[in-house]
Amino acid sequence: MLCSARRPAQGILETTFVYHMKNFDFKILKKLENSLGRAGTLETPHGVIETPAFVAVGTKATIKSLNPDQVKDIGTQVVLGNTYHLYLQPGDEIVAKAGGIGKFMNWSGPTMTDSGGFQVFSLGVAYGKDISKVIKITDPSLMIPERFDDSDAPRLAKVGQDGVSFKSHLDGTIHYITPEKSIEIQHNLGADIIFAFDECTSPAEDLKYQEEALNRTHAWAKRCLERHVKLNSEVNSNFAPALFGIVQGGREESLRKKSAKIISEMSVDGKSFDGFGIGGSFAKEDMSTAVKWVNEILPEEKPRHLLGIGEPEDLFMGIENGVDLFDCVLPTRLGRNGTIYTKSGKIHIENTKYREDFSPIEDDCECYTCKSYTRAYIAHLFHGKEMLAGTLASTHNLYFIVNLVKKIRRSILDGNFHEFKVEFLEKYLKSNN
Ligand SMILES: [Zn+2]
Repeated sequence: MLCSARRPAQGILETTFVYHMKNFDFKILKKLENSLGRAGTLETPHGVIETPAFVAVGTKATIKSLNPDQVKDIGTQVVLGNTYHLYLQPGDEIVAKAGGIGKFMNWSGPTMTDSGGFQVFSLGVAYGKDISKVIKITDPSLMIPERFDDSDAPRLAKVGQDGVSFKSHLDGTIHYITPEKSIEIQHNLGADIIFAFDECTSPAEDLKYQEEALNRTHAWAKRCLERHVKLNSEVNSNFAPALFGIVQGGREESLRKKSAKIISEMSVDGKSFDGFGIGGSFAKEDMSTAVKWVNEILPEEKPRHLLGIGEPEDLFMGIENGVDLFDCVLPTRLGRNGTIYTKSGKIHIENTKYREDFSPIEDDCECYTCKSYTRAYIAHLFHGKEMLAGTLASTHNLYFIVNLVKKIRRSILDGNFHEFKVEFLEKYLKSNN
């Protein structure tokens, strides 16, 4: 249900829209002038997410090398688990018996699960073709890593009209996931926000395949919504997750627009998707246009999540083009490999020059790592392959990204987004490459 509410101005805040779902409210507090960007709040049964927000990825119900208290202290508002991995291990029934993913992992805040659809791409279509992680279209320097799967790569997946069959990377058993099954697994996992099962195609595929895959994604979305509505009607408790539909369409304008229209208009028994995911692999050069095409069509009053994207320059681009939520494994994955975000670009802490550098990673960073340790010590931990290395680097990296999005949100509310963007990116990109 949509209503328009204008409250007396409280500071500069003005509520322009409130979208009510069962247990969920999405409010837009302020919009960016002459663009699709906005700042708002998304209320979930486990707390409020101030949007735009960066979602920390906890593939197997854990943010690698960090405990939930550390994740919370960093400022993280919401955690995303991976359906595929939790289905295989420990199994969604066990997570359900534990009381859902949040209780199981001791995270009291909002949670999300992806649908497992990305595995269709990374394990099947793209497997062995060297396109699962970096998309090659034209200039390699323009390519971005997309939707990293933060774990060991499994071996086999096959896409059919009805679903996907795959071989477990853990024990070789064969599994078959249909749209209905994905929704059932996600209801068992019990996150606040779940996603429809989609097929994520590579932009390297031809148009004919893109069209076929898109039709499949739309048919699967309908079946997900049907199963979700039915499961919600059967459950007596007050809890029902919000279901986000996923827009695909590769880099083709007509397909992206078609997908946004079909997914946003789709309904079952009068119930439509509560929000939207924008999926797919993008090349850096055309990500912003693809996001803009889609968000110009998606209903303004519902939240939008750009799946698997989270580099600083992409966060500004997405937010300016109307994205409310992002998730990406890069802060922790890069951290574990000794690559660390700074306002002057990324640094590699194992570089010789840091061996005797007794300053923090960043002087003005408020994270636990920067307040407590020097570059020399962190470099020493990496050289010695100590477990604390990954923890300290991931703490800083996640803090950097989560708080960058918070600062961008603040800049929208304060009316200085464009100044902040220019100032940040000038310094960050200049020394990043
Ligand atoms: Zn720091």
